[in-house]
Amino acid sequence: MSSCEKEVVKIGKQLDKMISADDQVNAMDLLQSLKDLPITLEILQKTRIGMSVNSLRKQSKHDEVINLAKQLIKGWKKLLPAQDKKKAEDSDRSSPSSQVSGSGDGNGQDRSFPAPPTNDSVREKCRSMLCNALKVPVEGIEDTSDFQDAEELAGIIEDCIFTEFTDTNMKYKNKVRSRVMNLKDVKNPGLRHQVLTGQIKPEKIAVMSAEEMASDELKEVRKEQTKEAIREHQMAQTGGTKTDLLQCGKCKKRNCTYNQVQTRSADEPMTTFVYCNECGNRWKFC
Ligand SMILES: [Zn+2]
Repeated sequence: MSSCEKEVVKIGKQLDKMISADDQVNAMDLLQSLKDLPITLEILQKTRIGMSVNSLRKQSKHDEVINLAKQLIKGWKKLLPAQDKKKAEDSDRSSPSSQVSGSGDGNGQDRSFPAPPTNDSVREKCRSMLCNALKVPVEGIEDTSDFQDAEELAGIIEDCIFTEFTDTNMKYKNKVRSRVMNLKDVKNPGLRHQVLTGQIKPEKIAVMSAEEMASDELKEVRKEQTKEAIREHQMAQTGGTKTDLLQCGKCKKRNCTYNQVQTRSADEPMTTFVYCNECGNRWKFC
């Protein structure tokens, strides 16, 4: 580890502590020290100092701290490889710092830099589909200043999926499609919002199951459906009570089996599940 790298790590730790303690008296000194250090691309990638500086920039209420942080990040962007630089500059307006800040911390698979561009038309198409899904407005949220760049996020998500399958085969496409469907779902703005604000890392959304991505509402419906399926299954197995008092709406015969089940809370009426032994018709009533 070079002395510069050591110094950067040390400053990074101090910055992180400062951010969590909300005490930014020394912020200017630390940022100034960073500015004076000969920081290379390698050091940026190893230390993730860009993320610390970016978090500080987002949280700080002091203009001079914000400006110096921005200045540093802008300078570091110039260290990006030539092919990424164009992209970094293109998205400069929408996302002043996310190129260097990267996509967060956590499971060790995070990428601190935007996904490299591909020359593959399928992959590019998938990225743009993911990007468009992320750009669907989040209802009720007007301040989007803490949103990460949709294009960049889409690139990382796609790159993770491609890395998993190392091919643009059917499995790859299905995985991309299920992300797109869930991300643009108007009934599930929470998922989109969490991805845009970094609460769900792009590396995470790339591997989440349909169940995990589903909206709370849908999760509730699914839970009920599962419960009901289990009850019906149990009824079929136990056989229920045979009766000739109930008439089947389909075949009009009176050869049914019924079972009463408490579906909701105990003080609500029982639900009666009925099965026609003649034609297999099933229905229920309360
Ligand atoms: Zn029937």
